[in-house]
Amino acid sequence: LTYRLLLLLLLLSPRAWAQQPPFAVPAGYFLFPIRPGQVNYLSGSFAELRPDHFHAGIDIKTQQREGLDVQASAAGYVSRIRVMRGGYGNVVYLTHPSGHVTVYGHLLDFGPRLGPLVRQRQYQQQSFELDWVPKPDELPVQRGELIGHSGNTGGSAGPHLHYEIRDDRGNVLDPQRFRFSEVPDNVPPVIEAIALRPLDARSRVGGRFERQEAVPVRSTIPDVWTLADTVRASGTLGLELLAHDRANGTANKNGLNCVEVLLDEVEVYSHAMESLPNEFSQDINVHIDYVTFQQTGRSFQRCYLADGNTRLPIYRDHAARGRLRIQPGQVHWVTVTIWDTFQNRTRLMFVVKGEPTPSAVPADSLAGTPVSSRQPVVLVQSVEENTLVVRARAAPPGAGLTLYKNGQARTEPAAYTADGETVYLFDLRRGLPDSIAVGATAQPTYLLRTFYPGQAAGLVAGRATLAFSAESLYDTLYLTGRQRGERLELGTPTLPLRAGVVVTYQPPVSVPLPGKSHVYRLEGTRERFLGGQWQPDGRIRFNVRQWGTFVIRADTTAPRIRLLRKSPEGFAFTVTDERSGIGHFRARVDSQWVLLQYDYKRNLLWSEKLDPAVPFSGELTLEVTDNSGNGATFRADFSTPAPAPKPAAVRRRRR
Ligand SMILES: [Zn+2]
Repeated sequence: LTYRLLLLLLLLSPRAWAQQPPFAVPAGYFLFPIRPGQVNYLSGSFAELRPDHFHAGIDIKTQQREGLDVQASAAGYVSRIRVMRGGYGNVVYLTHPSGHVTVYGHLLDFGPRLGPLVRQRQYQQQSFELDWVPKPDELPVQRGELIGHSGNTGGSAGPHLHYEIRDDRGNVLDPQRFRFSEVPDNVPPVIEAIALRPLDARSRVGGRFERQEAVPVRSTIPDVWTLADTVRASGTLGLELLAHDRANGTANKNGLNCVEVLLDEVEVYSHAMESLPNEFSQDINVHIDYVTFQQTGRSFQRCYLADGNTRLPIYRDHAARGRLRIQPGQVHWVTVTIWDTFQNRTRLMFVVKGEPTPSAVPADSLAGTPVSSRQPVVLVQSVEENTLVVRARAAPPGAGLTLYKNGQARTEPAAYTADGETVYLFDLRRGLPDSIAVGATAQPTYLLRTFYPGQAAGLVAGRATLAFSAESLYDTLYLTGRQRGERLELGTPTLPLRAGVVVTYQPPVSVPLPGKSHVYRLEGTRERFLGGQWQPDGRIRFNVRQWGTFVIRADTTAPRIRLLRKSPEGFAFTVTDERSGIGHFRARVDSQWVLLQYDYKRNLLWSEKLDPAVPFSGELTLEVTDNSGNGATFRADFSTPAPAPKPAAVRRRRR
């Protein structure tokens, strides 16, 4: 075995296609935007796997604080400035003569030069949120010029600088490809686990139609990992990889750059994260095993191209599309190599032993688990790709699976039995059963209809009407749905949608306050506001971006406003809303609009003057409206002192 491994290692050449510097600017063209010339650390890397997107840049650590100088990477001009509640928060875009655009996100402020200009525009437009696209000659910048300070604004979970380099076609590029010496990395990436998934009803891993995970162990060869056990499998398998990269001096788990898979020394799959078209970023949901991500929060990358994964240009073209075809009686070698941006690599090699392709077991010869016939059969259904999987506990020996469709019945034999569980596999391309039965136990399937990607289609299902666009789906969808009391259940949350599906819904009970009532999606124990528009016919129309359970809820409670401080220098409030969330806010002092900064993560609103030298005087009015149109107003005069905070409000939290 060791000899074989060594031989294979000699055959494996280092990858060539990722080593070419792909972007034509001289070395050192871009200045590192934080503390250039000093060692910096990353808390996030390019193309790292994030919920619903690949990370578009790098996250540079800022010593766990805000306020570090952010410097322009190269000469050019300010091409866009945005102020957003979420997303990148305060963000600056610079366009450079090379055609590249650099992006600096989650800024605390825009610095002494851009800051006052941004504030002026916010006052002109009477809006906290801003999207300003200056003309090319309006705001030139020099290389190294201060363009703001690092912060934690927008959808940032801690102080850092989000930094991107884009090309002139809107692709985001790996900034580390520009060879910044500020981020040293000679630590190889780590393979945490792999998974093998049978890709059709005739395939098995360890005798089962079940995705199975394994954790690598060290082999006798340095830097090469293997699996403790030989995998026994048959048919067509998909390999999945849970891996991360680490860099010097930090414990952060960052993303990989390249992955390559060989089956018996022949490359069957590879991808490289060098550049990504930003508009396809959500296709991460077909790049990763989305089901496992939704169920466990772990992002396994698929080392095969799933149906529907057609737009991402990161894959090398292979006829096999990464699928591992296992031949009966053969011993296959699988080699997985992963690289970080600095060409540090880690390799895993393991053996898959081919077993005979299973044929369905005839019902009468099936060795079922001997059980008392009075014991009820427990059925669990799931749909995997095109296969309806029915797992039966306590099935009578030899029992088949009966499928009903429009009153017609057909019976299928079990596929196999393992650990007292009888497993039935039915190809849904043959039709969608209404209900299924094993022994005396019957169950509805709630399968409604089959939808195909690239095809617009509609469906009336009970109280809901669904409209699919040609863009809605990645892959064939066997849609399930049902009304369950007040709850509308649609689809399987573990299946990704490529674009939204428009649902028009007649609630089962009359809604007394339609103006205050909206659609909420159940997420664990929370109900998340989705919104929706009421139609003249009394139905509500809303957009579904993720399948799940939907309810109508009324929010009649106004937001809560609490004054934190008020003086001629400025004022601050906390604002909260119990159900639908903060919608709009507006402050005036003596009928003059005042800019409010908003930090949704801390529920904070605070004033920012146009001219800091002019004290506030007169009457302060703050109006806050929630997403259901409930409003609250706070009024006070600057001449009267603010009430002393209640003792509870100033009590220190114990640590
Ligand atoms: Zn980031």
